Amino acid sequence: MASFKCKAVVVESKDYKEKDKQVLLYSLENGKFWATLKSARGEKSKNKVGKEPFCFGEFLIENTRGTNIVVGVDVIDSFFGLTSDLDKFYEACGILEIIKKITNYEESDAMLFMRFVKALKCICYEDCKNLYVIDKFLIDIFFSMGFYFNVNCCSSCGATLTSKKYLNYDVGELVCSKCRSLNSEELLPSVLAVIKILNNIDYEKIPTLKFSQNSEKDTLRILTKNFEGRFMSKLNLMGLL
Ligand SMILES: [Zn+2]
Repeated sequence: MASFKCKAVVVESKDYKEKDKQVLLYSLENGKFWATLKSARGEKSKNKVGKEPFCFGEFLIENTRGTNIVVGVDVIDSFFGLTSDLDKFYEACGILEIIKKITNYEESDAMLFMRFVKALKCICYEDCKNLYVIDKFLIDIFFSMGFYFNVNCCSSCGATLTSKKYLNYDVGELVCSKCRSLNSEELLPSVLAVIKILNNIDYEKIPTLKFSQNSEKDTLRILTKNFEGRFMSKLNLMGLL
């Protein structure tokens, strides 16, 4: 029986057997993995801490015959405030959905974990306009994969990009009008501005931003479509689009 500690956030939680809960954790040290919280259902359960999505804590896990059992949780932040604001709640749920879809089991990524926690903190505690944080989070993910949305030249032929710029969803990069494929979409200057600004600032500065109306929603729609092309997986983003 091996035991280990890790800093993790609950990204999904479901009932298991009669009284237990299973939680999907995304951790700094061990990446994503499932663990069981014994007898976690019921108000009086001492194990109910750590069963709710968003709970960020230091988890003590025991691995018994291949099954991870949570034997202790020191809560760092429950992000409880997310449950009292529906817009913030949906946006934070979107962050959880993205993390679930882009990570592999038991593969850690310290930079991604740090961004993930920062994004949740920003949504929960800062006065950010709706969708700015999730847009930033997606842009960060694409940039960390090497997609820079270079606005200066066409990624296909290298020509200088002048007035019209298209995002080619097949390759996740900007192209000129001659190189655009059927699966390309023109990016409005307002959307390009959002991408550029969010790429260049940290999460702490997001509350100071104000974009032109609806550009954050247009940006999210485009980033979501681009996500499908890069990860071969759809984002539902319940309540956001
Ligand atoms: Zn071109």
